[in-house]
Amino acid sequence: MTGLPGSAPADLVFRAQRAWVDGAFRPAAIVVVDGRITDVLPVDATVDAVDERTVPDGQVLLPGLVDTHVHVNEPGRTEWEGFASATRAAALGGVTTIIDMPLNSIPATTTVDALAVKRASAEGRVAVDVGFWGGAVPDNAGSRGELHDAGVFGFKCFTAPSGVDEFPHLDGSQLREAIEEVASLDALLIVHAEDPEYLVGHDALGGRYEDFLVTRPVEAERSAIAQVIDGARATGARVHILHLSDAGAIPMIRAAKDDGVRITVETCPHYLSFEAGTIPDGATEYKCCPPIRDDDNRDALWAGVLDGTIDMVVSDHSPSTADLKVDDWGLAWGGIAGLQVGFRAVWTEAVRRGVALDRILPAFTTGPAALAGFTDRGVLAPGALAHFAVFDPSATAVIDVAGLAHRNPVSAFAGLEARGGVTETWLRGRSVASAEDGVTSVSGQLVTRPVLASATASASASAPASASASATETRL
Ligand SMILES: [Zn+2]
Repeated sequence: MTGLPGSAPADLVFRAQRAWVDGAFRPAAIVVVDGRITDVLPVDATVDAVDERTVPDGQVLLPGLVDTHVHVNEPGRTEWEGFASATRAAALGGVTTIIDMPLNSIPATTTVDALAVKRASAEGRVAVDVGFWGGAVPDNAGSRGELHDAGVFGFKCFTAPSGVDEFPHLDGSQLREAIEEVASLDALLIVHAEDPEYLVGHDALGGRYEDFLVTRPVEAERSAIAQVIDGARATGARVHILHLSDAGAIPMIRAAKDDGVRITVETCPHYLSFEAGTIPDGATEYKCCPPIRDDDNRDALWAGVLDGTIDMVVSDHSPSTADLKVDDWGLAWGGIAGLQVGFRAVWTEAVRRGVALDRILPAFTTGPAALAGFTDRGVLAPGALAHFAVFDPSATAVIDVAGLAHRNPVSAFAGLEARGGVTETWLRGRSVASAEDGVTSVSGQLVTRPVLASATASASASAPASASASATETRL
């Protein structure tokens, strides 16, 4: 055991009265060597370390958060967002790993060459670790194995128009074919699930939110999710439902899971924080697809997060320039910028609901880590990367969008009276950002899909105990 008396000193020991270890808060001393955690010891353990830190009273030590749903948009739409600005926002929000979505950048990440372009664009400019999803579009059917071999974490597809011309959606038969292809690759298909049969075509809609909401009814989500479940059930493919808005689909997903279908599901901070009845006229910073629904639906989404049916909460950070957020719900760009503040927003709502912090943490750590196949992120355990977020649960602040690090100062979370604050973020055992000093180091790495020890790691790894056990194994 490194760092103990009689051996070489550790690089760092991080002591906390409340460290999130094995799914609960406990006193611990986290020992770090070469950017990884080597030991989790009693908080007062004697450790020979070059550097020693103690989490301030009242604050908690968390593993760095994992956000598997971020649209960085670079290259091609760099005026919307970019690797430098997005990863700074992540670092300041306690997020130490992001996985970039394959669309809104140009090129879209649908070929090996496009992946190389994106990696070159990001290299050396990222403040946190960045991986890439590939895209499943009609044109790359049958050749997705090359992209999988190049290290993408899986394939994103749409069942309805994506909003950008260069990323066409799959029709029903193309979706089934994609599910069969990912099953043959033992890859992962992540799906924007809205059935266009149920979407109401429109141009301008005016400023009233309810006129937008009726164009994207719950039936659209339910129909598309049912198709994905059917395909996964028939083929054994591993599938994931992106940004669930309709809580009415939760029982169908739970039943599929109970049957052994390899399906996971995410929702987003905006669906847990907001409800349709309080969205102001013309406030299209709240526009996203599928849309934010009513208050009862929000309650049911919360129930799904707390009972574990919803595996993760990820940002779907999808910013644009301010000029695209016109005050007409039909014409405005659909996407919400929440990478830096999503965790705080959900914690704020959790406090309002009397939900303890440890109950929402799996959705921001082990849940998304398992989706991506990481066993050494999202946990404080021997073998895990020494990525940390120091969080003050009782801090309060009004979110000032101009003070956020993402490129364009537009966000549905602007003005939110938020609870909690990320005070410091660490990457590989080094402090890289703090509330006081901002981002102090740009030392993120580009990461590729880990080789899974077992094809069944997806669902079972979301339990904290098994995730930390797996992390120990990967150290060997
Ligand atoms: Zn998205």
